[in-house]
Amino acid sequence: MRHSMKSTSFGVASLFGLVAAVACSSSDGPGGAQAGSGNGGAYSAGAGGMVNNTGGASGGSTVNGGSASAGAGFAGSSGAGNGAGASGGSVGGAGSSGAGGSSGSGGQSGGAAGSAGSAHAGASAGGAAGAGGTGPSEPSGMPLPTTNNVAKPTGAPGGFSVLNWAGFKAAASFSFDDALSSQISNYAALNGTGVHLTFYLVSNNNPSSATWTQAAKDGHELGNHTAHHCHDNGTGCAWGTYAGSLGAELDQCTMHITQTFGTSDVYTTASPYGDAGYATPAGTRFLLNRGVSGGTIGANDNTSPYALPCHTAAEAESASTFNSATDSARTAGKWQIFLVHSLGGDGGYNPVAIADVVSAINHAKTSGDTWADSVLHVGAYWRAQKLISGLTPATSGSNKTWTWTLPDHFPKGRYLRVKVDGGTLTQGGTALAWSPHGYYEVALDAGSVTLGP
Ligand SMILES: [Zn+2]
Repeated sequence: MRHSMKSTSFGVASLFGLVAAVACSSSDGPGGAQAGSGNGGAYSAGAGGMVNNTGGASGGSTVNGGSASAGAGFAGSSGAGNGAGASGGSVGGAGSSGAGGSSGSGGQSGGAAGSAGSAHAGASAGGAAGAGGTGPSEPSGMPLPTTNNVAKPTGAPGGFSVLNWAGFKAAASFSFDDALSSQISNYAALNGTGVHLTFYLVSNNNPSSATWTQAAKDGHELGNHTAHHCHDNGTGCAWGTYAGSLGAELDQCTMHITQTFGTSDVYTTASPYGDAGYATPAGTRFLLNRGVSGGTIGANDNTSPYALPCHTAAEAESASTFNSATDSARTAGKWQIFLVHSLGGDGGYNPVAIADVVSAINHAKTSGDTWADSVLHVGAYWRAQKLISGLTPATSGSNKTWTWTLPDHFPKGRYLRVKVDGGTLTQGGTALAWSPHGYYEVALDAGSVTLGP
């Protein structure tokens, strides 16, 4: 384990408009081990403090920062996780060019801990060596609900339940299909929203654009939209010639993404033309497959994970139309996936003005009750919630233990937010910390959680 200071930077970071703090950041190189030299943690500070991790560093990476008393700390770290490790800057969302951002993609980390003062209390945990954070923290890096100052439950042990949508009322994911040039040319505006997006790439369209590599570094999802975008009978390929089987179409795309854009794996796919025939080969290769049928998804509902519905943007769709769909999902407590194609000027399908798309993303983000995140992040939560909610715990003495095996192609470093009436939740013998946002974060990689006195 080593701790090599590689850079220091300053920047203004914010997450979903909740906090804007001047962050003083430090970042470690790969393998940087020691977690924050500062204890006390912005998160525990309560008033305004927040912690953010991306990329799901294993082992509870963390960074704790800063002078808790200042109450305005911001801490971000990114870890190895699923390879989507982002710079701390993008974690914060508001593009602080500095905050932890100098380190690269998954495995390296950027962390920042800031306080209202100038104390340089931050340090970061890197990648797999991320364990060792000393202060309490919010390990998942998922956006924080606006609910705050929720007292830790003190009732009898029991009442274990998983919160829908990570503690938000609803969820929204914005996906962009076909690897179109207008998505590349408008990437800065899309990334500037601070929301993690999903780009379903056709690996033979703009196959070497450095923008996709940057998008992965920034925490966005690179999903699979096949090699040549053919119908499920092999005809009508939009880019190139059919690879000979649907499986080969999917595999060639995944191989291209992992070999070219710096990601460790590809977890979700979207069927070209929404053709149903892709569902079967997707089922053995991915965690989720998005179609094009209209609709929303409910927590614990029976939507097929290989035929996820979405709202497909019409040509020149206005922000208000997007926003109506988001608001309907908020009212219903559902997950709305959006599908956008062209942003204009590239001959792609159903062009929509970038201003309307950015406005729609910001509407979801700033609603306060909507979890805006990638298809992978929301979808992995949705699948894990269904899995864990359906378990019957084993009883031993006064303890109850829930044990699970994650589905194939499930990303590492993901969490569920759960609540109980009271008692102590432990994983691997370590008590979980209560978040004042109203939940415990359960690490899915651990494979079990125990509730006892
Ligand atoms: Zn397409």
